[in-house]
Amino acid sequence: MVVIIGGGLVGMSAAYQLTRYGVPVVLVDRADEGKATTAGAGILSPGNRFPSGDPILPLLKEAHAYYPKLIASLAEDGEYHTGYEKVGALHVATTDEEASQMSKLLEQIQERRTAGFNHIGDAKIVDSDAARSFFPALSPVKAAIHIPEAARVDGQLLCSALERAIVQRGGSLVHGRAELVVDQGKVTAVTVEGQTIAAEAVIVAAGPWSATLAKQLGITMPVYLQRGQIAHLVVPKTETGGWSIVMGFTHYILTFPSDRIVVGATRDNVGYDYRVTMGGMREIINEGLRMAIGLESATVQDVRIGFRPQSQDTEPFIGQVPGFENVYFATGHGGYGLQVGPYSGAIAADLVLNRPVSTDLSPFAVDRFSHAS
Ligand SMILES: Cc1cc2nc3c(=O)[nH]c(=O)nc-3n(C[C@H](O)[C@H](O)[C@H](O)COP(=O)(O)OP(=O)(O)OC[C@H]3O[C@@H](n4cnc5c(N)ncnc54)[C@H](O)[C@@H]3O)c2cc1C
Repeated sequence: MVVIIGGGLVGMSAAYQLTRYGVPVVLVDRADEGKATTAGAGILSPGNRFPSGDPILPLLKEAHAYYPKLIASLAEDGEYHTGYEKVGALHVATTDEEASQMSKLLEQIQERRTAGFNHIGDAKIVDSDAARSFFPALSPVKAAIHIPEAARVDGQLLCSALERAIVQRGGSLVHGRAELVVDQGKVTAVTVEGQTIAAEAVIVAAGPWSATLAKQLGITMPVYLQRGQIAHLVVPKTETGGWSIVMGFTHYILTFPSDRIVVGATRDNVGYDYRVTMGGMREIINEGLRMAIGLESATVQDVRIGFRPQSQDTEPFIGQVPGFENVYFATGHGGYGLQVGPYSGAIAADLVLNRPVSTDLSPFAVDRFSHAS
């Protein structure tokens, strides 16, 4: 039995992959308020915000290539509702200062495409009118880059689709707080609210809460909670599902069928504080309207809060725990976990089964902070 701790996108993906290999799994989830997967926006970005040489880039590239395979696999399991769609993206400049950076930005995006990122396409600078044809509510902008192959996903829908597919393939889900049982230097089981589940292997994918479980194994894992507040709007009688993603220099807008718009997000380093704040709302409304004045009459339907699992060096933690050969972690994906998380979960499943992993995981070593004095 493999026990997976955490029912966000990373844990669900790991459990799903294991069930595809025919391995019995139990996934334990505490369903914390502020689970990042429920609040995540869903932009599968071109990767230009990561500098050349960042160790995340090969992982990101593989993660993007993995997405269509995951979506196809879920469709084979009868799961079609994931919100995944190639709707394209606009990177917009609303000030002269931002406009002066557009050529450099286009160069970086094209560099990523040349490096094999398969979800960018033929990116081009377009004028304000052309940009508005991809996103009708757009404000007049100074310049825009159109990225035709960019995709988005609905993290919550994808997570639910994975959950149903896991159950259909024989996996079990348990609600509650998981704790590791360590016996003579080995994790032998997981307890959940008094119930003991014997474990041949354990995958910890508990988002920012993973650090507590790592500590139990003597591992220092600096993953902190970064709060994101994100608004969900409705534009009545308007089919928004095909509109492009809009990425500004700090904030973004994306759309889902049939009339839903998502505007985000704040980055509040306040720890676990599950609240919508006036300052957060002001920031999202101001930045959202700066990019898309046509949203002035949209209805604010919901404001979600999520805690990004932000690691100290911005790299995730993926791999086996040294000294505990049957325990694996996959966490720390910060603000890019919807794009990378499904692949990281699949990697964790492969590691459990000793299957080959093509990506170099050494930059993501679970114990990389544990040696520092
Ligand atoms: C506002 C916002 C916008 C974002 N936008 C994007 C985006 O556009 N693109 C992108 O790629 N990423 C985005 N992200 C990031 C992405 O959402 C996260 O990186 C990703 O969802 C993390 O998934 P996870 O499975 O690691 O953690 P989570 O989704 O947080 O899930 C962790 C789960 O583990 C459970 N858990 C914790 N401890 C225990 C325990 N002891 N026992 C049992 N269960 C436990 C929790 O209850 C929780 O359900 C965004 C995040 C936010 C907040």
